[in-house]
Amino acid sequence: MASEFDLIARHFKWPAPAGVLGVGDDCALLPVASDRRLAVTTDLLIEGRHFLHDADPEALGHKALAVNVSDLAAMGATPIGCVLGLSVPRADHAWLERFARGFRTLADAVGCPLVGGDTTRSLQGTVISVTAMGEVPAGAALTRAAARPGDDIWITGTLGAAHMALEVLQGRERATPDVLAALRPFLDRPEPPVAFGAHLIGIAHAAIDISDGLQQDLGHVLRASGCGAEIDYASLPVHPALEGFAAASVQRAVLNGGDVYQLCFTASAAMRQRITELAGRHGVRVSRVGTITQEGGLRVTACPVPLSPDDPAGFDHFG
Ligand code: ADP
Ligand code: MG
Repeated sequence: MASEFDLIARHFKWPAPAGVLGVGDDCALLPVASDRRLAVTTDLLIEGRHFLHDADPEALGHKALAVNVSDLAAMGATPIGCVLGLSVPRADHAWLERFARGFRTLADAVGCPLVGGDTTRSLQGTVISVTAMGEVPAGAALTRAAARPGDDIWITGTLGAAHMALEVLQGRERATPDVLAALRPFLDRPEPPVAFGAHLIGIAHAAIDISDGLQQDLGHVLRASGCGAEIDYASLPVHPALEGFAAASVQRAVLNGGDVYQLCFTASAAMRQRITELAGRHGVRVSRVGTITQEGGLRVTACPVPLSPDDPAGFDHFG
């Protein structure tokens, strides 16, 4: 079956007009002034696929915006505002109030005010569509195509917690209530490093947000940049609450687990100190996990469990 990416490439990857960055990156970039670009990104959340009927509405409001500002951060864009398309089966004011509170708290925190949208009654289930806009200096965005051989590869935050929380909630893994309580906020309320991302302009080269798993998302950067990478598994920031799980489960969560909404970015080795200082100022954890190579492909060294070529590389809606 065709992957989600094949489907997009076949039907919607039209040539972009000169000066426009179109389909294929975390945001599109549109010229608005000679020295500024408008960054635009949109994400859909469908009941039953991205969240369950009984999902906490406040967490859902937070996450609906978080997954979008995460794409702004991945381009180094500063948020300007967002619009919300909402389709709900009925006017449940208690639910809407809590959804709006979660959305608004994050919007205030990252400076991405809600400025419009559309609301309809759905026939079945809730559908949430958020479009976020940001701005970035012309020619400076952190695109997927900008990685260079010799670059360091960095990751913000930790890996694996959101995926493992979902595995536990859906009964594929077992955990004590304490461990689940430690994992769950990473699935329900991802906190993308938005201000940090914008400050990476002029420091980092390429960036992507980890939504479908490190292997798959870094793979997008490598293909777009025409290079490869070597990652040292031992340097990956595994979330500490994964400690008690089987090694193979942890490795899968770390390399292929989605819903992370942290950044994977590349920068020259000369930037190490600036990156560490910037991260310190923003209270963001950063880990240097590998190197961009001239030779194509992604090699992960020192994996606890040998990697097989049939391992699923990440989440794909049509894979
Ligand atoms: P992300 O996870 O960063 O949101 P996706 O993997 O969803 O990115 O999409 C990959 C690229 O394809 C993005 O540039 C996105 O804007 C584009 N894209 C996805 N669906 C469509 C569509 N239906 N029409 C046009 N472009 C699309
Ligand atoms: Mg993205």
